[in-house]
Amino acid sequence: MRAEILSVGTELLLGDILNTNAQYIARELANIGVNVFYQTVVGDNPERLKNAYNIAVNRSDIVITTGGLGPTKDDLTKEIAAEYFNKKLLLDEKSLEEMMGFFKKINRVPTENNKKQAYFPEGCIIIENHNGTAPGCIIEDGGKIAALLPGPPKEMKPMFQESIIPYLKKFQDGTLVSKVLRVSGIGESSVDKEIGHIIDRQKNPTVAPYAKDNEVHLRVTAKGKNEEEARKLIIPVEKEIREVLGDINVYGVDEESIEEVIAKMLIENNLTIGTAESCTGGFVAGKLIDYPGISKVFLEGAVTYSNEAKMKRLGVKESTLNKFGAVSGECAAEMAQGIARTAGTSIGISTTGIAGPGGGSEEKPVGLVYVGIYMFGKVITRKLNFAGSRQKVRDRATFTILDLLRRELVKYLEK
Ligand code: AMP
Ligand code: MG
Repeated sequence: MRAEILSVGTELLLGDILNTNAQYIARELANIGVNVFYQTVVGDNPERLKNAYNIAVNRSDIVITTGGLGPTKDDLTKEIAAEYFNKKLLLDEKSLEEMMGFFKKINRVPTENNKKQAYFPEGCIIIENHNGTAPGCIIEDGGKIAALLPGPPKEMKPMFQESIIPYLKKFQDGTLVSKVLRVSGIGESSVDKEIGHIIDRQKNPTVAPYAKDNEVHLRVTAKGKNEEEARKLIIPVEKEIREVLGDINVYGVDEESIEEVIAKMLIENNLTIGTAESCTGGFVAGKLIDYPGISKVFLEGAVTYSNEAKMKRLGVKESTLNKFGAVSGECAAEMAQGIARTAGTSIGISTTGIAGPGGGSEEKPVGLVYVGIYMFGKVITRKLNFAGSRQKVRDRATFTILDLLRRELVKYLEK
C-alpha cells in the first residue's frame, strides 16, 4: 500500500511552524508497514490544494491530509476532497450535537461557520475528535482512500491512534508488532557498533535505532500470522540485544519513561525520596512528579539556588562551600544527605552545576555538574560534563541523575 502525506497550511510553507504532523504520521505508518512514498506541503490556496490533491490521489493508494478542517474560509481540505471524489457535503447531526456539547463544556458559544465542521462528504467514515471541534473522516472511493485529519497535533495524534491505525491494519496480511527498548548510558554510535550485526540481519524482526536527547531507542518490529506469533519472534532478538548491550542499560520498554521505572521501584519497595536541586532548578522533582502515584514516595523537593539556601535549608557546611565551592562533589553529597535528613526520606538526590552560558572558569567550565545520591547511610557523587545550551545542560543533568538513581536502585534491590 502506497501512502502519501499531504500537509495543508500556509503557515507550514512560511516556516512559521514545523511539520511535526508529517513526521509523526510517517513514523507511525512505517511501524505498521505502510510505505510512505511522498510527503507534500501545500498552502491554504484552493487551486494549488486541488492540484496537490489530484496528484496525490493519482499516485498513491492512500492520502492522509492534516490541516484545513477548521471553521474558516481558508479551511478547504474537506471541500476539495468532496469535489475530487464527486461527493456532496451533508450535515451529520451527531457531529453537530457533539460539537455543540464540546463548546458548552469549554464555555464558548459556536459561531455560525463552526457548523461547517459538521458537514461531511456523503458516505464517508466520520472520525470523532475528542480534543477539539473538527472531526476527521475517511473517504473510500474507486480503490483509493483519503483520510482527512485536523491540523493541531494534540487532536490529530489521538485520532490517528484510535481510528486510522486500526483502520489501516485491516488491509494488511499478517500482524506487525513492535517493541521499543529504551537504552541509556550508551551513545547512538556505540549502540550501532555493538549491535550492528543484529541490525544488519534486517529480516524478521527488524531492528531500528533512534537517537533521542538522552537515550537511544531500539525498535524491534516483527511480522507474524497473528499478534502472538509476532511477539514470539521478538523474544530471542530482545534477549540478544540485552545480552550484548548489558541488561542494566536497557532501562525500559515501549512508553515506559525513566521516571516511571524509578517510581515503580520506589513504590514497590516503600522507599521515600526527596530532591535538592541547584542548577536543574526543579526539573528532577518535576520529572518524578510527572508520574501519577508518586505521592506515596516523593515527600519533598527543594530548589536551593544560593549558598545561603544550601546552608539554611539543607545544612551544607559553610566550610564546605568555602573550601570546595557550591559546584563540587562535596557540596552535592551534603545536599543529598541534607534533604534526606530534613525531609525524613530514605533517599536524597542532588544536583549542583554550571548551566551557563556565563559563570564558567577553566577549572569549572560551563556544563560541569555534580550529582549526589544518598541512600541507606551511604552517599555517592558523580562529576559530569555536558555540552550545549543552558537548557540542554540542565536537561541532560536531570536525565543523568535519574538514570544514576535507577542504576543504584537496581543494584541495591538485587542484593
Ligand atoms: P488548521 O486545521 O489547518 O487550521 O491547523 C490548525 C493548527 O494546527 C495550526 O495553526 C498549527 O498550529 C497546527 N498544525 C497544522 N498543521 C500542522 C502540521 N503539519 N504540523 C504541526 N502542526 C500543525
Ligand atoms: Mg490551516
